Amino acid sequence: MPTIEFSQVEKSFGPVRVLPPMDLTLDDGEFTVLVGPSGCGKSTTLRILAGLETLSGGEIYFDGKPISGLAPKERDLAMVFQDYALYPHMNIAKNMSFALRLKGTPKAEIDAKVKRVADMLNIGQLLERKPAQLSGGQRQRVAMGRALVRDASTFLFDEPLSNLDAKLRAKMRTELAEMRNTLDKNMVYVTHDQIEAMTLGDRIVVMSEGLIQQQGTPEELFKTPANKFVAGFIGSPT
Ligand code: ADP
Ligand code: MG
Repeated sequence: MPTIEFSQVEKSFGPVRVLPPMDLTLDDGEFTVLVGPSGCGKSTTLRILAGLETLSGGEIYFDGKPISGLAPKERDLAMVFQDYALYPHMNIAKNMSFALRLKGTPKAEIDAKVKRVADMLNIGQLLERKPAQLSGGQRQRVAMGRALVRDASTFLFDEPLSNLDAKLRAKMRTELAEMRNTLDKNMVYVTHDQIEAMTLGDRIVVMSEGLIQQQGTPEELFKTPANKFVAGFIGSPT
């Protein structure tokens, strides 16, 4: 698994600076959660990493190699979006295998992979259906499955549970926590939900208005918050 390094990464949209120069290292095999209030720059950070937004300055390195010149599909990562972004006209199997078919992976290999991942996510019986015939929770699993079949070293999740009701969100949180332990991958997970962050993160990066306020293990953040913002956001007793 590569180590991912942000070095003085910054982003402006026109005259509006969303991310001041930011340094951040994501360690090999870690589940990192970027957490912070809505609008603080979490999605932008993830989209820059995925290559869906260009950098306004700085560079991102995968194992020391700069990646800003690489197109999204040339980067060794797969992203799960908040709104799932499934193709409505394709069945679930086709949705999940889309990237592999583009790459020209042999059909038998694709079928086996889709089956394995679908079974792991409990959607093995839904492969012939269209997205519109699934519940929100099932669509969410498909979006995750579509990323997982790609065998990338790094998975990016942008608020994947935010469109689910509270009960399903709690269930998926538990499943993600289990998956986290079985998959040997880098995970970068964006959320505005403190509970998700504290449950899932090996390391949590707390952001506010484009700035990293603190990073550390859930325990470190809870016991020794760096400032009032972190304490309030994490819910520390100070
Ligand atoms: P978060 O994911 O933490 O809610 P975002 O990264 O989506 O925050 O957005 C951070 C800031 O950047 C917000 O103020 C948002 O309005 C702004 N922003 C995001 N994308 C664009 C864009 N394409 N054009 C202009 N402003 C944007
Ligand atoms: Mg966002």
